[in-house]
Amino acid sequence: MKRYALVAALVIAAYQLIPADGWWTSGWQLAVGCLGVAGILTGARRLPRRDRLPWWCFAFGVGANVTGIPVAIWAEDVLGWRTLPSPADPLFLLLYPACAAGLALLIRRREPRRNWTAAVDAAIITTGLGLLAWVYVIKSVTEGQDIGMFGRAVQAAYPIGDLLLLALMTRLLRGAGSRGASFWWITASLGAFLVGDTAWVVIGNLPAVGAQVEAIQWVQRSIDMVFLTAFVLFGLGALHSDAQQIGVAAASQPVRLSPVQLALLAVASLVAPGLLAVELHQGRVVDGPAIVAGCTTLFLLVVVRMAQLVREIERQAAQVRDLARRDELTGLPNRRVWNEELPRALDYARRDGRPMSVALIDLDHFKLFNDTHGHPAGDRLLKEASAAWHGTLRAVDLLARYGGEEFVVLLPDTGEAEARRILERALAVTPQGQTFSAGIAVWDFAESADELVARADAALYEAKAAGRNRVTV
Ligand code: GH3
Ligand code: MG
Ligand code: MG
Repeated sequence: MKRYALVAALVIAAYQLIPADGWWTSGWQLAVGCLGVAGILTGARRLPRRDRLPWWCFAFGVGANVTGIPVAIWAEDVLGWRTLPSPADPLFLLLYPACAAGLALLIRRREPRRNWTAAVDAAIITTGLGLLAWVYVIKSVTEGQDIGMFGRAVQAAYPIGDLLLLALMTRLLRGAGSRGASFWWITASLGAFLVGDTAWVVIGNLPAVGAQVEAIQWVQRSIDMVFLTAFVLFGLGALHSDAQQIGVAAASQPVRLSPVQLALLAVASLVAPGLLAVELHQGRVVDGPAIVAGCTTLFLLVVVRMAQLVREIERQAAQVRDLARRDELTGLPNRRVWNEELPRALDYARRDGRPMSVALIDLDHFKLFNDTHGHPAGDRLLKEASAAWHGTLRAVDLLARYGGEEFVVLLPDTGEAEARRILERALAVTPQGQTFSAGIAVWDFAESADELVARADAALYEAKAAGRNRVTV
């Protein structure tokens, strides 16, 4: 790959030195283009069969594009073809759909699940730049009088193709997936195509400067060299050892928004009002309908983006709420839930005048169990035991993990005898031949939540002292 890069760099640099003859320059460009295609095809061959398709698309697009170069000069010099479109245009234009297809395939591979956030971001950027492109490039092309309808459509297809590539590139950059050297070579290559096209547009739009620039050989050749570099960068991307990583599916992750990306989105959203301001300043609004359409689209996209963010925040808030209330090991409600629920249950009991009990459960000799069977086995016992107990409780009862191997049960509408029966049922299903001791306290309609639990704890202590494996009230 190093040799490839070196040869390519030399060949591209030498482009400044070759004779000023159309056949020489286009031949040179064709040679560099073929070097790029050869690089892509060689790289693709090294990949597993199922990863090759995107690269074949790229090779086809670049191949068609470079074939257009000699065809253009042949049409002009041999056929004397001076009108637009030239027979080379279809070949040049094939670059866009082919590369777009390759990029779409890569995006699909990298993110099998649709990433709407990245899609909306790409749409915002593309709409903003698309509006600029319409006003300053596409519209003037379609209004040109010197070429026919078909010729104008073909001319307009170039900036539209650029926008298509830009949309897919932004989508690729905003999405998830590995970003190795190969990824950046491809991005740089497509970026170079866009820079080259933009350079021609700018020169074409500044007639005074344009005519001068076109007369200076090295400037013109420098722009050609941007395209030559783009061909070769594609080859480099394919030949790099991490080319295979590009198509690997990434775990979907929340899309981040760096300050730079945020600034880009802001600038793109401000294109429409900016254009309006410029035209107002010039005293005549000529692109009213385009600005209205662009503005509307951008506003809607921003609203969609905002809705996505709000949904995401709501989802995460629900997740946090759930995490904060659930014990990780057993999945039971944790002590926080207990502390919220007990006072509420006391209020209900007071209002309805119904009895209410709480029970504290503590596994017997759990330290010994851990020491004998290991900590992971202890964890498993905690999980299995809590699930088994939960199965014997009524739907209205609340079983929570109080901490360590201690659990609490809230038994609404339950007196002493019933509470004892429920706890003994739970004791009987404790798995792996293990037992627990439990202390029950029946609420006296006066004491606080803390006092009630303290009495249950005292009962538990008694149960332990009396020999464990029992329920004490
Ligand atoms: P007693 O019958 O008097 O209750 O004896 P015990 O061994 O159950 O009580 P002790 O309080 O001495 O030990 C509790 C043990 O519970 C010690 C601690 O390592 C273990 N333990 C606490 N939380 C966890 C946990 O989440 N997982 C596991 N595996 N062990 C835990
Ligand atoms: Mg304990
Ligand atoms: Mg214990």
